[in-house]
Amino acid sequence: MPSSPQNQSGAAPMPPVRDREEIDPRGSKRDRSWPPAPEPLPFPVIDNHCHLDFADGDEQFSVHDHVARAAAAGVDAQITIGSDLDAVRWTAALLASEDCPASLRGGVAVHPNEAALHARGHDLQGRELVGLDEAIAEVSELLRGPGMVVVGETGLDWFRTSRDDEKSRNAQIDSFRAHIALAKELDLPLQIHDRDAHRDVLEVLEADGAPERTVFHCFSGDADFARTCVDRGWYLSFAGTVTFKNAGGLRAALAEVGLGQIMVETDAPFLTPVPYRGRPNSSYLIPHTMQTIAEVTGTGLEQACRTIRATTQDVYRFSEGVAA
Ligand SMILES: [Zn+2]
Repeated sequence: MPSSPQNQSGAAPMPPVRDREEIDPRGSKRDRSWPPAPEPLPFPVIDNHCHLDFADGDEQFSVHDHVARAAAAGVDAQITIGSDLDAVRWTAALLASEDCPASLRGGVAVHPNEAALHARGHDLQGRELVGLDEAIAEVSELLRGPGMVVVGETGLDWFRTSRDDEKSRNAQIDSFRAHIALAKELDLPLQIHDRDAHRDVLEVLEADGAPERTVFHCFSGDADFARTCVDRGWYLSFAGTVTFKNAGGLRAALAEVGLGQIMVETDAPFLTPVPYRGRPNSSYLIPHTMQTIAEVTGTGLEQACRTIRATTQDVYRFSEGVAA
């Protein structure tokens, strides 16, 4: 498995680290064709969370293909997140390479489910893994490299790793706390992965003190939890899930807090927005999610884009001229 996006000459990026179906095997029978390009946004936004290290789709897109398609749809910058050690190294190498698109930024962390595996010493295929401290030390080192704008994704996941498994639970909490400390040390925002763990995430953030810029990536809480987060000065990033038919609670959360502390993301290649749910996802599909955000908040699409862009630029300190 390649761990660097760069070839020997340092020019063209190498293929992604892995195929989506390696971790999402139920997908092997799904429609793997890329959805058509949507109508471009009237004002550009930034995709603040995607995973360019994953391959997906019946046609292989390079990093440059994803960036070009995004730009054509009105998504003029992206933050790519590396969340296990292979992806962390790939992301750091991509951002350091001469060939890296100018509009691309990144973030790295040990994902909560990965933290549990590092604590066990092996991955799901039984391959040996370094200890959690060593993994976080490498993340800390690479976050100091070029193009890194966020510590993430970290947090707690009681869906894929049971809360009742004490060793895993403690590993996730230790890892979350270490990443909170790292965000403060490096003065970077923190992107939180919170799956079925709202109460515990809140408890850790309150105990340790949240970094000044704290973002709930792929926000999944209800209206009460959204209010709780926004009142504490935190940011909520909405993914394609907000377009899903069964996501009434999520739309109620967005309606509750409005646009003030909201951002948009794809979490690509996952969470493809309606009407293409289940097919491959990439930043160029954000217009579908933005359409829903505008509708739910009762805002015109252009105004919603302007507000979200301004928030995203502030949180990640993108300079005005980021878009290449
Ligand atoms: Zn993600």
